[in-house]
Amino acid sequence: MQTFTVNGRAVRVRAVHCGTVTIKRCHATCCLPERTPSALRLLAILADRRFAPPMPIWSYVIEHPDGLFVVDAGASPSYNDPHSWRPDPRTGTVIRSFIKLTVQEGAALPERMADAGLDPENVRALVLTHQHVDHTGTVPSFPRADIWTTRAEDLAAGRIGALHWRWRDGSTRIRHVDVEGTATDLGTAVMLTDDGSLSAIHTPGHTPGSVTVRLTTDQTDIWFTGDTSFTADGMDPAAPTAGIHTDMRRVRALQSRLRDAGLILPSHDPTVPARLGSASVGVSQ
Ligand SMILES: [Zn+2]
Repeated sequence: MQTFTVNGRAVRVRAVHCGTVTIKRCHATCCLPERTPSALRLLAILADRRFAPPMPIWSYVIEHPDGLFVVDAGASPSYNDPHSWRPDPRTGTVIRSFIKLTVQEGAALPERMADAGLDPENVRALVLTHQHVDHTGTVPSFPRADIWTTRAEDLAAGRIGALHWRWRDGSTRIRHVDVEGTATDLGTAVMLTDDGSLSAIHTPGHTPGSVTVRLTTDQTDIWFTGDTSFTADGMDPAAPTAGIHTDMRRVRALQSRLRDAGLILPSHDPTVPARLGSASVGVSQ
């Protein structure tokens, strides 16, 4: 856990390791010209027989004076249980053929939080950077939280494999950044805290409804960027980027905007603990 300050008040940021994700090489790094339509890039991913090395899955827990906030819900161990796919086994077969998730029973986000003395029932808001399976797995474990996503993401659910039946029902408190927010230079945004230090911004690119979370501290701006780039180094416009982005042009524009904007914390970068540690003012526990 790392400590920052906002207007002199302590805010703690915790990167929680929620297993690993293994994807095809053409998914991790685009193997076709970036101008290729996304549907064709997806076909290339499905046809690729080679897998890239596993990547960590990070969720983030922010302890703010206004409450407890979480960015992304990580993966669920049930992903690997064929019985859990009974409502839609065909989709399960396709998705599990090109996205491998490793998360141990008892080691998903809610249990990791409990180990750290944090009760998922106390989470005020859970922001989904997008609705892929390695970001939504444990949403049902946060029954009292507002679940922030976008209407754009919901409208694209079928196209991006959002699998709503796996993680939401009538009791899930879904809220939409792009409906409730106001316009900013980066995109439509909602303030999650009264002091305005924590906000969620609709930043389409990786998926149509992707969200970036911004935490403005006295030390630096912290950007929870989801999968806009799998790593912080990947924010460099000259670096290769993922083949799965739905809108490559918008991804590249967002990467250029954020690359020097502060501390970048993507969802799958192995260097997250080191960079988070070097930017903070203190380490606890
Ligand atoms: Zn991901």
